[in-house]
Amino acid sequence: MADPSVRDSSERVVGRLAPSPTGALHLGNARTFLLAWLSIRKQGGALILRMEDIDSPRVKPWARQATLQDLRWLGLDWDYGPDVGGPHQPYTQTERAEVYLQILNDLVTRDWVYPCICSRSEIALCASAPHESADGPIYPGTCRHRSSRDAQTLGTDQFAWRWRTDDRPIRVHDQVHGIIDRSVARELGDFVVARSNGWPAYQLAVVVDDFLMQVTEVVRGDDLLSSTFRQADLLRRMDWPQPSYAHVPLIVGPDGRRLAKRHGDTRLTYFRERKISNLAMVGYLAWTCGLLESPQPIRPNDLLAALDWNRLTKSPTIFDLQRDFSVLESISR
Ligand code: GLU
Repeated sequence: MADPSVRDSSERVVGRLAPSPTGALHLGNARTFLLAWLSIRKQGGALILRMEDIDSPRVKPWARQATLQDLRWLGLDWDYGPDVGGPHQPYTQTERAEVYLQILNDLVTRDWVYPCICSRSEIALCASAPHESADGPIYPGTCRHRSSRDAQTLGTDQFAWRWRTDDRPIRVHDQVHGIIDRSVARELGDFVVARSNGWPAYQLAVVVDDFLMQVTEVVRGDDLLSSTFRQADLLRRMDWPQPSYAHVPLIVGPDGRRLAKRHGDTRLTYFRERKISNLAMVGYLAWTCGLLESPQPIRPNDLLAALDWNRLTKSPTIFDLQRDFSVLESISR
């Protein structure tokens, strides 16, 4: 069987920046996007900006524009996106409903998905503690006996489409974490691919978009590592190629938890308004993940030679507003 991680070397590398416009860009997202940008630019590839504005109640309309501005302030650019167009437009997920619906219909016809009427609380109640996965309880399989055709006789339109996972283990080659094998069925369980409101869930939308947009490299935060196995399960069944992956560490607060308001203001705008320069921010971000020996102002282009997945730190970076603000201030002068 062909190894999905090995691609034809004549193929052009295509990457993507895939922000969810749920608020202003913070340091953690900024660093992930910087790394995704560096990797593609270093390989002379093409970069897509895709606005992932479905599947989150936290989407804020103003954040679409603000995100683009923040990325540009950092000195990042893209070849295709909502603002520049491109061969696979639209690049905003809420404008791609028809595309997802077509694929979903195909999954329904093939009976690869089944209608699930379980509520979150019912699932939490049924799932026994030892099987709890890091990102929520494993679906106990209550509706798994249904076929996709049963949707017509359910007597309700309040159901989600759930993916029937495959028992066979999935192998992912990650440029940061190496080779990882996991069983989606045992470790993660059947997952939702379309919500009862008719919209596809993140797992399906991202796989469809990456495939249709011919993305060959996915660089994202390592909080999405388990999602990668779900997505790889979808890819395998659809016979679509696996892109290459690099899951990069997150920036967390002193309590070890992902950046949030309680850790102080970590939005890029906070620093920008306080005269922290964009070059200082780029150098600081590169230093915090091991690409630079010391913090210094630098342009993204001048970091291309420094990007090396083997040098990248694997553990999360701990952010401390007071300490790190002084570092940023000292290199902004
Ligand atoms: N939109 C996701 C986020 O901002 C990233 C999804 C992905 O890279 O697959 O966290």
